[in-house]
Parts: sequence; structure tokens; C-alpha cells
Amino acid sequence: MIFASDLDRTLIYTKKLIKEEDNDIVLVERYLGKELSFMKKNVIEKLKKVREKALFIPVTTRTIEQYNRIFIMNDTIKPTYAIVSNGGNILVNGKVDSEWRNIIKKAVDRITNRKFVEKKFLNSFKDTSWIDKMVLRDGLFFSVHFKDKELIDKEEFNSFKSWAEVNKWNVSLQGRKLYIVPSPVNKWDALLYVKKKEKKMKIVSAGDSFLDYPILINADYSICASHGELKKMLEDKTLKQDHISLTEGRGINASEEILESVEKLV
Ligand SMILES: [Mg+2]
Repeated sequence: MIFASDLDRTLIYTKKLIKEEDNDIVLVERYLGKELSFMKKNVIEKLKKVREKALFIPVTTRTIEQYNRIFIMNDTIKPTYAIVSNGGNILVNGKVDSEWRNIIKKAVDRITNRKFVEKKFLNSFKDTSWIDKMVLRDGLFFSVHFKDKELIDKEEFNSFKSWAEVNKWNVSLQGRKLYIVPSPVNKWDALLYVKKKEKKMKIVSAGDSFLDYPILINADYSICASHGELKKMLEDKTLKQDHISLTEGRGINASEEILESVEKLV
């Protein structure tokens, strides 16, 4: 069995998403001297137990550098595989799997060029004052950071989104960030590559955003954290829910529920 899980807003949470009454929280990431992300203590304990019976694979849109900042992964949980860059890179004991990187490079070269996508995005809006910065991540996809989300023109945004989809680029809005990702760079293809390599049969997966949907819809058992983008898309039927279950709790409490379900399955 494989337990494949998204990290941010699924297993780990920033201060903003933690309520005062949430206790037994442990710091798992520091950035520029600041305490950035946290996990529930019992989630870490349960994850260690799950690890003994199943192959735990973190599956994240974080870049290699951003993933390596989560010290709990490298110091304590030590997963053999980590799928990072939204599936664009696979780390095997911390080292980039170059065979996978080549597969991705060839696939990305076949679709609309990223420079063209960047230009098209910036030209899609009459007013771009809401954009703080647009950053190319691990040479593969863009993250757009907002100054003010309310200033986005919805019509212009939807028109860009439709164009992107036709051109095989996915768009995902997560909090104050927008991800624009070439479709070959997805979490499921990377997970399938590891699954075949490891000859594992079943997958249980967890996530909270549109970019997690491929691993949730294709896994044998799937849990969606009840907050954020994906829950909304399942509820308004933009995406079919199928066998994906939703947690009852929201925020960091969802992570505990996810691990409780996974413990029963492995
Ligand atoms: Mg997430």
C-alpha cells in the first residue's frame, strides 16, 4: 500500500490556519528565521506508524528547496520518495530521479511554450496592479502571488483559464496564490511512476486543492480536507466526487481525521 499525501493545508498548516484552541501543535518549518508551518503532534506519531506498514509519499507543489525546508520530513519522517514540483521532480532519498526529469522535459517540450503562456497571462488583464510577482518554479510552472485578490477581473481570469486548458496548462487558485502548471507536470503521473517502480498495488491519497484531484480521483481510497478549492469544486459539481470522501473537520483538525482513516486502511 502507498499513502500519498499533499502537504500544505492537508498535513501541514501555517499559523493563519491554526485556531487558538488547537493544541499539541509542533513546528515543522522555519523560513528566514520565522516559524512558518506546523503539524499536529499525533499526526506525526500516526504518520510514523503508517510508515512502518505502507510507503508514505509526500506529494507537493512545493519546489525542491521549499520541500527541503520542512525539517520534520528530512529529520524524523524520512520518506524514501518525495514527489515535489507538483510531480515535475521525484526525490529518491533526497536526490532528483533524473530518468523522471527527462520524461517530464520531453512531455513539457511537446505543449505550448511557457514563455508564451507567461506573456498570454500578463496580457489577459487590462489592470495587472493586483499581481505582486510571477515566479517560474523549478523551471517548470508558474506561481502568481497577489497583492489584492479582490481586484482580479473574473471574466478576464476565466477567459485566460479556458485558453490555458485548451493549451494543456492547468490553473489552480490556492489562497493568495495562483498556480499555472503544464498538464504533464501533475501529481498522478509521478505517483504512477513510483507505484510501478515499487510494484505496489493500492494507493490511498489525501489532498485539498485542484492540483491534488488527479491523485484523489485515481487512487483506490481518497480523502479530501474539507476546506479550500477542491471541496468547493466537488460540492458545486465542477468535478465529480466519485469515491472521494470529505473530512468532517476543517483546518488542522482535518489532518488528524485523514491519518485516522489511513491507519484503518493500511
Ligand atoms: Mg494543499
